[in-house]
Amino acid sequence: MKDINGMMIQYFEWYMETNCKYWSYVCGQAEDLAKKGVTSIWLPPAYKGIGGKYEVGYGVYDMYDLGEFDQKGSIPTKYGTKDEYLEAIVKLKQAGIEVYTDIVLNHKMGADELQTIKAHKCRWDDHNVVEGEDETVEVWTKFTFPGRNGKYSDFKYNWTHFSGIDYNSRTDENALYKLKDKSWQLDVDKEFGNFDYLMGADVDFENEDVVNECKRWGKWYLELTNADGFRLDGLKHIESYFMKDWLQYLRDETGKELYAVGEYWNGDLGEIERYLSETDYKISLFDVPLHFNFYNASNSNGEYNMAEILDNTLVKSNPNLAVTFVDNHDTQPGQALESWVQGWFKEIAYSIILLRKEGYPCIFYGDYNGIKHDKFDKMENIDTLMILRRDKAYGEQHDYFDDFSIVGFTREGDEEHLKSGLAVVMSNREEGSKSMYIGEKFAGKIFIDSLGHREEEVLIDDNGYGVFPVNSGSCSVWVCM
Ligand code: CA
Repeated sequence: MKDINGMMIQYFEWYMETNCKYWSYVCGQAEDLAKKGVTSIWLPPAYKGIGGKYEVGYGVYDMYDLGEFDQKGSIPTKYGTKDEYLEAIVKLKQAGIEVYTDIVLNHKMGADELQTIKAHKCRWDDHNVVEGEDETVEVWTKFTFPGRNGKYSDFKYNWTHFSGIDYNSRTDENALYKLKDKSWQLDVDKEFGNFDYLMGADVDFENEDVVNECKRWGKWYLELTNADGFRLDGLKHIESYFMKDWLQYLRDETGKELYAVGEYWNGDLGEIERYLSETDYKISLFDVPLHFNFYNASNSNGEYNMAEILDNTLVKSNPNLAVTFVDNHDTQPGQALESWVQGWFKEIAYSIILLRKEGYPCIFYGDYNGIKHDKFDKMENIDTLMILRRDKAYGEQHDYFDDFSIVGFTREGDEEHLKSGLAVVMSNREEGSKSMYIGEKFAGKIFIDSLGHREEEVLIDDNGYGVFPVNSGSCSVWVCM
């Protein structure tokens, strides 16, 4: 079982500068991140995508091209060259940070040649419904990777390795085409009837050659990079048994734990739980329901019941497999799953993911470093909150999620961590205070707000209780002086 006392950081956002110098930049940040308590890093997809050096990474073209071959207009990816990538991983690991790499298996884009085959259209609002007759289409499904010329793998994709595609070159028509005799995989999310198809040329994981090639690639990639684990993209579009088998194969082959956290983008806890069960609890998942609780609370102008902020979340139902987060590269403004947690609520949300006992927290680069594209500054207290997790968030936890607007929790601290223990109080509406138990060992001690929002001192009484104040729409984290 993963030690979830650590702290993950997603170290990129959608609009990072396109200068091919990102891997070098990461090298320079490794020590500083480790000092702040970061124990693992989620790096962006490292392989060549359809957009070449402009590609964020999810429009996958060639998974064997980590910035090594002249394909899609450049040798480097948006983030740099293969050698720089490998160097960054070495530096991060030397600093004591585990490296999780972003793996996108669901689809491919930017094929090298057209193929002419039969296909039929399906409806976008219900992928199970076929429209019209079979037609002859010309589709971009042949991937020969001429720039790589067979190095590392001579596998070439053709239409038999895919289930569907969204463009017919013959008629210049954008539509959802299911390829000849193919069917959508059944063991996927049920949105739009069947959510096997997401974008590009949808990889068919019922094809044995595809499965073997994925295994071959995974082994090659892990041997080359020495990565510690994965962030798995788009799991609701991929047959769950394939993911489970693929991961198990790589764990067996490498003898490594290979921590894996998956993106199963669904706000319904039942769906998340179903996926965990289908994959035998071998893949952790991002706590999407918790993200939506944060999002809703931050957009409700104080009308959200804070007593329910943890309700129907994965961190509550299955804390050991929950990766908690506030935002990511998809939820940031302008992106596909835009659901940005408002700035005023960020400290509350990060206090919940970083300072509580449950969940493996993941900090978003856009909060840690800001998002230039949207003129968002670095979150003011994010470093302080990270240090608080590193130094203070230990020991027994006492919850006070018992009020509509002002809620809180305390950690008693432990012997191992000198001067650990803290009291968190948060309000989404009025200013106020909360009486909370933090432990008799603190009787007579003075607590101050480490986030700097409140000036006063709080005295802990003989029974180990303190009355901790909080400002309106704010959060304070009280620690022993
Ligand atoms: Ca799919």
